[in-house]
Amino acid sequence: MTRLVLKFGGTSVGDIERIKAVALRVKSEVDAGNEIAIVVSAMSGVTNRLIGYVNEIAPLYDAREYDIVVSSGEQITSGLLTIALQELGIPARSWQGWQIPVYTDDAHGKARIRSISGEEVIKSLQAGTVVVVPGFQGVGPDGSVSTLGRGGSDTSAVALAAALDADRCDIYTDVEGIYTADPRIVAKAHKLEKITHEEMLEMASVGAKVLQTRAVEIAMKHGVRLQVLSSFTNKPGTLVVDEDEVVEQEFVSGIAYSRDEAKITLVKVSDRPGVAARIFGPLADASVNVDMIVQNVSDDGKATDLTFTVTRSDLERAIETLNQNKNDLGYEDLRSDLNVVKISVIGVGMRSHAGVAQRMFKCLGDEGVNVQVISTSEIKVSVLIAEEFTERAVRALHTVYGLDAE
Ligand code: ASP
Ligand code: MG
Repeated sequence: MTRLVLKFGGTSVGDIERIKAVALRVKSEVDAGNEIAIVVSAMSGVTNRLIGYVNEIAPLYDAREYDIVVSSGEQITSGLLTIALQELGIPARSWQGWQIPVYTDDAHGKARIRSISGEEVIKSLQAGTVVVVPGFQGVGPDGSVSTLGRGGSDTSAVALAAALDADRCDIYTDVEGIYTADPRIVAKAHKLEKITHEEMLEMASVGAKVLQTRAVEIAMKHGVRLQVLSSFTNKPGTLVVDEDEVVEQEFVSGIAYSRDEAKITLVKVSDRPGVAARIFGPLADASVNVDMIVQNVSDDGKATDLTFTVTRSDLERAIETLNQNKNDLGYEDLRSDLNVVKISVIGVGMRSHAGVAQRMFKCLGDEGVNVQVISTSEIKVSVLIAEEFTERAVRALHTVYGLDAE
């Protein structure tokens, strides 16, 4: 008996016709003899509308009541899909977050799952009933409804798959899988058959927005096999698996980019022990996430220039924090730049292949693209470049690493 968790995103359940189509797809999985638990998103557009209602009444709303409102979108879909399944003669039942229960912390609006009790759901699956669960919602320590943050249904699905010890978690969406690069930019991008959790995590965190990052983290931690596939076709998608399942490792699996970057340069910071801590300490205290960092000796050799990146939404807070600490930090000038993009080359095979970064720099040099900041991890090399070169850089790198489809 194969136990599957199937997750359907907003566009896959966008209207009643789509919900009926999903029910038929589920029927084929049931007919094949599988145990099926389903996680659904709100119908597309619904969550945005609900958030809009809340904001119309009170921009500084009570987060607990916000969760009561926005969690309802998923509740509606879960009931509708359950009814659609029953109409096809399939025994089905919906389980709200509090019924399972999906326990979360009390951070309303962006709660984290603490634990899921799978026993009752497993009994129901074993008795041949399809279980339909609204994604995105859980129950906080005081028993009130909580939600997991935008895109949180992915996380619900993966966490449920872990709790149910499912054989696989299929994430149905409106793209056919994970591509070697954004197909809107690179015409020769191709769908990957398999990718490791770690690579997917890097792809997700640098802007390939197919899966919520948190969902991939949970999948990696619990070894949940994922498949990302389209509910609009019948093609196999991309499998996201543990590294030991990928036999033939490409040394580069994909090229990703993120426009959500801002660059800050502190000019002429006095170069003495402890400055870096004094700069990045207050930023961390202000919850500003610093990503790439370079330090350069300034023109006169007496001071240092420090350049780093933050997400665009953090830029203003970062500048304010630095200005407040200007006397203590003793820098001469602060410059910020939004005209930047981060390009990343990602692949687990990099661990065992030298020269990946060098090839990237050579390629960008040949294209006349100036590299402003560099950062690397074991399986990723990222560079910051001027935004107008995004397409050219991604396409050139895609070719250089042999990723172009024939
Ligand atoms: N409906 C929620 C959202 O739009 C959660 C989800 O679909 O993943 O963010
Ligand atoms: Mg989503």
